[in-house]
Amino acid sequence: MHTMFKELHPNNKISYESYRQVFCRDFNISFGYPRTDPCSACDEFIVKIKNLESGKLENTENLQISMEIKRLTTENTLHKKKAEMFYSRKKMAKKNSRKNSNTEAICMDFAKNLQVPNISTNYIYYKRQLSVYAFNVHVLSTSGSNFYVYSESKGKKGPDNVCSLLHNFIYSHLDPEVKHLKIFCDSCSGQQKNFAFFRFLHNLVNNEKRLESVVVTFPIRGHSYMECDKNFGLVNKKSRAEVPEDWLQILEDARHSLTPFNVINVNHTLFRSWTKFLDNSYPKKSSFPSRPIREINIQRGALLQYRTTYNGAWESASLQVKRRKSSRLPVCHLKDNEFRLPEYSYEGQLPISAEKFRDIQHLKKFCSRAAQEFFANLPHQ
Ligand SMILES: [Zn+2]
Repeated sequence: MHTMFKELHPNNKISYESYRQVFCRDFNISFGYPRTDPCSACDEFIVKIKNLESGKLENTENLQISMEIKRLTTENTLHKKKAEMFYSRKKMAKKNSRKNSNTEAICMDFAKNLQVPNISTNYIYYKRQLSVYAFNVHVLSTSGSNFYVYSESKGKKGPDNVCSLLHNFIYSHLDPEVKHLKIFCDSCSGQQKNFAFFRFLHNLVNNEKRLESVVVTFPIRGHSYMECDKNFGLVNKKSRAEVPEDWLQILEDARHSLTPFNVINVNHTLFRSWTKFLDNSYPKKSSFPSRPIREINIQRGALLQYRTTYNGAWESASLQVKRRKSSRLPVCHLKDNEFRLPEYSYEGQLPISAEKFRDIQHLKKFCSRAAQEFFANLPHQ
């Protein structure tokens, strides 16, 4: 804005600082969050309206066009209202969790994949690198933020990984006093908007009995800007990182305004086969489609409830725990405060493809000796 002002008024020599001072003091204007992924529904609406408006000038049958414009405008207003609902829910949950010590709200998401070696050489564009994943669990009441970091040789980014990471967060980082958890997360079906995740939460409340209730709220597509995105924005993606540990350090140093990020170096032993484990005691297939769901509500001892709008009626689904008639293994009975965990997902580190391994061997020559050794020993096919 300052640059534009100078262009428009070349004779008015005002410094950036003075301009900023006047702007903050004399105007009641604030800035919204930058949208990282623009909403396709809203973009489509803007284009349609533009086309109709230009058609209005050439065409004499204006009434029909005006009606269509009105219909589209109502539709888009409704869409935006729904999007706002997600944000106001999140705001309310944050406020509540600050007031009540037994209530917490979190948002969680994977950052865009990081790479190693992340170095400045033109070769980078032609060679495959090792991906590094960063999963962020952000606590809304305190703004405390946890980053789980691991390379693709330690684990994947599927439903079992999300369940395992969240399980670790709940038992190792969430205040033990918290009994009611609200989760805000992206509608990604390959990660958390799926039946495996819903059963995992039901198990957490009803069998592990760690929590008394969990509510998950999913955003409208395109309007999913969350605290996690703000956190990812603090990370300089151009930082030099030779090995995955370098990204851990960069994340640890990324936040200055609040307490630094709590960065967790994840090993493959953190991941467990939740889907397979839950298949033993829950139905394998969901009786309801998960794609249109906006909210999931799980209360101890009650049926799982879900709804496809933010304010509409709840529907119930029974997750009747199956009793196996003949189990080959004798069942060892558990006490009230005990529970079982699934098996480990991976026996060891995951091998990367031979092609990727070959590419990385080319890139490693621009790295330190320690990094070269790391890359030479990467498990691969
Ligand atoms: Zn939109």
